[in-house]
Amino acid sequence: MTEERLSFQAEVSRLLDIVAHSLYSEKEVFLRELVSNASDSCDRLRYAALTQPELSSDDPDLKVRLLTDKEARTLTVVDNGIGMNREDLVENLGTIARSGTAAFMNSLKTESGEGKKDVNLIGQFGVGFYSAFMAADRVEVLTRKAGESQGWRWLSDGKGEFTISQVDNLPRGAKIILHLREGDDEYLEENRLGAIVRKYSDHIAIPILFGDGEDAKSLNSASALWTRSKNEITADQYKEFYHHVGHAFDDPWLTLHWRAEGALEYTNLLFVPSAKPFDLFDPKRAHRVKLYVKRVFITDAAEGLIPPYLRFVRGVVDSEDLPLNISREMLQHNPMLAKIRAGLTRRILSELNKKAKDTENAAEYATFWENFGAVLKEGLYEDYEHRDELLKLLRFRTTAGDGLVSLDEYVARMKEGQDTIFTISGDDVDSLLRSPQLEGFKAKGVEVLLLTDPVDEFWVPSVGVYETKPFKSVTRGGADLGKIQGGEDKPEEKAPEGELVDLLALLKLTLGEAVKDVRKSERLTNSAVCLVSDDNDMDMHLERLLKQHKQ
Ligand code: ADP
Ligand code: MG
Repeated sequence: MTEERLSFQAEVSRLLDIVAHSLYSEKEVFLRELVSNASDSCDRLRYAALTQPELSSDDPDLKVRLLTDKEARTLTVVDNGIGMNREDLVENLGTIARSGTAAFMNSLKTESGEGKKDVNLIGQFGVGFYSAFMAADRVEVLTRKAGESQGWRWLSDGKGEFTISQVDNLPRGAKIILHLREGDDEYLEENRLGAIVRKYSDHIAIPILFGDGEDAKSLNSASALWTRSKNEITADQYKEFYHHVGHAFDDPWLTLHWRAEGALEYTNLLFVPSAKPFDLFDPKRAHRVKLYVKRVFITDAAEGLIPPYLRFVRGVVDSEDLPLNISREMLQHNPMLAKIRAGLTRRILSELNKKAKDTENAAEYATFWENFGAVLKEGLYEDYEHRDELLKLLRFRTTAGDGLVSLDEYVARMKEGQDTIFTISGDDVDSLLRSPQLEGFKAKGVEVLLLTDPVDEFWVPSVGVYETKPFKSVTRGGADLGKIQGGEDKPEEKAPEGELVDLLALLKLTLGEAVKDVRKSERLTNSAVCLVSDDNDMDMHLERLLKQHKQ
């Protein structure tokens, strides 16, 4: 039997080095990651077996087992899921296809100081398997893929290389054998393992057993969490499920668990995170809601299940009506999916609206808004049907102070004679507040919305008006303050009209082609001049953004 020796991708080696040498506060999370992989692998087999029943028919009861050997000092996690062949092993346990590692390394650098690196976050970045090296100095994987006869052994001490060799007569699935590090004997104790499983993995839908054969004991409740009734689920169980399904580590800010009944039946368990996921602005804008049909996992990439502007939502949708053997490709065109999307969207927006209206907990909503507001705004031009609801969710920094302001609040305190919602856009609030274009508005006490998200350049022109009040940038030539009452009524020292006309003419002559026009304005109090764009031209900030991108 030949053995192949292969090198880890450089990134993986670096990651393993950190994992093995960091002082982690919660080493035990490695078990959560391995159990989570075992359960994912069973989910994938169950899905594949819908169209190829022979894949699982010889051993149809899917489960995870934990085995310990005190003499050999090994802890083994066994599953009878889909397994891996040689290519899978090289690809999944030797390289990192996704952007996860770089992001994970960055999180270690920024989120925690030297010496206390928070490896707990590892699963979020799609590199959970490697956490096995926190507790083990040698990891062995014995595996055979469903539908194939050849088995394989993967072995590594996590120091740059791994070996792969053929092994005959392996059962289907994967067996991960951890040769525990010195001092980690606690992971040989049934009680300790049981406690970890209950803490992190109780919601896993298949049995997690301790021991072999007849005396095996079940460590979890083994029913899909979303099928249980709300009053039987603790906040901690919801949280752990969210961590598992959302590859997340924060607390869910909002937990939505409900069952839709009627023409279509489906159960939903959805979460809005309290922290911003690292890949929120990934150009693919993929959502992270898993689709199940009658408790069978179908896909975590059902296009159209959730609109892209709600892609921060995590969780599962379990349909009773979609056909079990539906292919991922056919899903996209299934009208039931569109109906489910409409139901989910309606419900999520209405729950968000409740939170937005809850003025006693405004700080909570403000955090949500800081995290996801820029994403929600995409809906304003992508989803006309829900535009009104989305407009109610908007919050703005304004010239009136530090707090966040809704459009209704803005409109309610508009000045007499003001029929326009004034805006100014730029890269950040501080530099906007220093802008000379705001002087006149500040002097008259006219509030201006400060727009700092690139997406603002798209939704504002698309929405155009709110409650009959048009949005208008203060950098527009026509945005003048003449009609509006307010401010201290200082006796004005007006320049004689004739001199002003001469000055304007002189400026036009001097500046020539560089400007379109030179006008007198009410908007300035301290500065002598400012730049504005013509009513029909592009907004100045957008023009600058586009120039940066060489458009
Ligand atoms: P993630 O679970 O986020 O994909 P991991 O590092 O935990 O990242 O696992 C990497 C990959 O290794 C998985 O996506 C899967 O393809 C494979 N894998 C890990 N454990 C198993 C297992 N027990 N059975 C089959 N495949 C597995
Ligand atoms: Mg994993």
